[in-house]
Parts: sequence; C-alpha cells; structure tokens
Amino acid sequence: MKPLAELKAVSKSFGRIRALDGLDLAVADGEIVGLLGPNGAGKTTAIGILLGLRRPDRGEARLFGRDPRDLSARRCVGCTPQETSFPVTLRVREVVDLVRAHFRAPHDRATLLERFRLDDLEQRQIGGLSGGQRRRLACALAFAGDPALVLLDEPSSGLDVESRLGLWETIRVSGCSVLLTTHSFEEAEALATRVVVLHEGRAVASGSPTALDGHGNDLRSTYLTLTRPQP
Ligand code: ATP
Repeated sequence: MKPLAELKAVSKSFGRIRALDGLDLAVADGEIVGLLGPNGAGKTTAIGILLGLRRPDRGEARLFGRDPRDLSARRCVGCTPQETSFPVTLRVREVVDLVRAHFRAPHDRATLLERFRLDDLEQRQIGGLSGGQRRRLACALAFAGDPALVLLDEPSSGLDVESRLGLWETIRVSGCSVLLTTHSFEEAEALATRVVVLHEGRAVASGSPTALDGHGNDLRSTYLTLTRPQP
C-alpha cells in the first residue's frame, strides 16, 4: 500500500545551510511516526515540504500519492504548525468554525472542543487564553476536518504535564495517521509506533521506540548522544 505521505531523497538548502540532505521518510496508513531530532535537525522543513509550503531542491514529496501543493491532497491533511497566531478578538468557537468550514465533513464543534478539553472556553476570546490553552486549540484545529493524516510540529510544547498526557491520549484514540515532531524521547515513546531520528537533515536511526539501531544501540541512546553537549 502506498504511504499517505512520503519524502524520497529530499534535499533542501537555505543559502549555505543544508536543512535536509537526501531524506527518505514515509508515513503509512495507521502509523504514528515520531520525528525526533535536536534543534535545527530539519524537522520543520520536512513538515513544510509535506504540506506543500516549501519545494524540495532535489528529490520528491508525495501527499496521498499526489504533489503536496495539490489542493485535493491538502484537503485530507490537518496540521499544527510550531507557532500559531490567531486574531485575539475572535472567540474559540469562531476560530474552530472558521477552520471546520474548510473541510467537507468536519467534526462537530462540541465533540472537538470536548476532546481537547476546550469546552469551557468556547466563548472565550483568543486574547484571554493562556499559552497552554492556545496550544491545545492549535492541536484541536489539526483534527477539525477529520483528516486521514495529521502533521504536528512539536504539539506539546508549552503544555503542563496533565495537558500533555491528555493530548497524547487524544492523539492515540483519534484514529488518524500522524507524523509528529518532538525533542522528547518520552513523547515519541509514549505515542509513536515508529520513531525516526533526524540529524543534520538525515535520518540516522529508525524503528520502534524500543528497537536497536543497526549498530546495537537503542534509539534512546542514539538520540541522547546527538543532543548531549560536546565536551
Ligand atoms: P527546531 O527543533 O529548533 O524547531 P528543526 O529540526 O525543526 O529545529 P528546521 O526548522 O527545519 O529544524 O531548520 C533546519 C535548518 O534550516 C536550521 O539550521 C535552520 O536555521 C535552517 N532554516 C530553516 N528555515 C530557514 C529559512 N527560512 N532561512 C534560513 N535558514 C532556515
């Protein structure tokens, strides 16, 4: 079966900075793939290319077997970018309805708000939400259209422990295939059916969170080695 999203030997540079260097990455139906990597590893660039926001310099990106810039492909995907900004005077319910209106068969508003523990905040203006509440809203919007695939860029950043655990559970039971970026091995371990460790734009290890890489190291130690300060 064809992957829902795929990068094939994708390279992308910004001036002299090589953000992606021949990256192969695929998300199959039913998978939750955790893209783990230190700052600057290329995670957001990979997501941007899969969303059709950036073009690869080399290689190929496919979303549902199509060019990610094709509207028909993008209609089936939901996303939470690393940073979001909503008009501060809009109410939570208005933002949710605005996003829902872009999809053919969205979730109903009440269900979505309840799942993301936003039901008490339905009438609140965005300017009156805490940082964590805004992040929960940003994550809820990724699921608003009942998409087949969700791309989440550091979904739990800024969330307290309880909110993070709640978000993990919501993602798990969503029934969506997911690609999420994170710096937290704990998050990848809790959520992902498969982890890909990215370093300097290349996939340096992948497998189930408890798997060994090809050199007998487990994925956790591979990742921790990459993020440990060099003496
Ligand atoms: P983080 O964990 O810090 O969010 P990341 O893994 O998401 O990092 P990217 O944001 O993809 O990494 O960035 C990869 C590299 O490309 C970094 O060195 C970054 O500075 C660079 N980069 C990304 N976008 C641009 C841009 N628009 N212009 C210049 N350099 C960029």
